[in-house]
Amino acid sequence: MEKRLDLSFKEEVKELSGANVDLCYQCQKCSNGCPLLYVMDFSPAQIIAGVRLGKKDLVFKQNTFWICINCKTCTARCPQGIEIAKIMDALRKIALKEKREIKEKQIYLFYRLALKNILSFGRLYELGLILDLKLKTKEFTKDLALGFEMFKKNKLSLFPKVVDRKKLNAAVNKIKKRGADIKPQSTQRE
Ligand code: SF4
Ligand code: SF4
Repeated sequence: MEKRLDLSFKEEVKELSGANVDLCYQCQKCSNGCPLLYVMDFSPAQIIAGVRLGKKDLVFKQNTFWICINCKTCTARCPQGIEIAKIMDALRKIALKEKREIKEKQIYLFYRLALKNILSFGRLYELGLILDLKLKTKEFTKDLALGFEMFKKNKLSLFPKVVDRKKLNAAVNKIKKRGADIKPQSTQRE
C-alpha cells in the first residue's frame, strides 16, 4: 500500500489539464462508457479518485492513461463536465517529465513514430508508420494479413502524399509558438 501522499499532485494535474477533479462524485459513468476499460488496470474513475487523494505513485503504476486513446466518450458522459481525456493527457506528460516507468511501451512507441511521421509528411503516411513500427519492434509478421486486406481495399498507399513543405514548416512553427512540445522524443525509452 502506498504510504506517501503527494498533495501537490492534484494541483499539478488540475493545472495541466484544466479539469477540476474535485467535482467528481464517483458515479462511474466515465468508466462504464470507456471502450478500453477491459484492458485498463484502473478504470478512469479510479484514476480520478487516485489523483484527488494524492496517490501519485499508485496512479503511475497503472496503464490506464497509456491505454487511453482520447476518444472523449468519458468526457461526454460525465455529468460534472470533467475533461477526463485531458486528465489522461496530463498524466502522460507528467510521467514523461518525471521519467517514470512507461507501462505500455509499444503504445508510447506508436505515439512517437506517428508524430515523427506526421512532422515529416504533413499527414499520416500509414505504410511508412507500419514499416517504422516493424523495424523497431521486429514483429515483422504480426498483423500481416490485416495489412494485406487494407492494401487490397486501397486503405494503404505505397507513397506519401506530396505536401507543400513551406506550409508544413509554417504550421509546425505556429504550433510550437503556442507552447506545444511536438518534438518526437528520444527512442531510448521505447
Ligand atoms: S463521470 Fe465524472 S463524476 Fe462520474 S465518476 Fe467519472 S469523472 Fe467522476
Ligand atoms: S478518452 Fe480515454 S478514458 Fe475516456 S473513454 Fe476514451 S479511451 Fe476511455
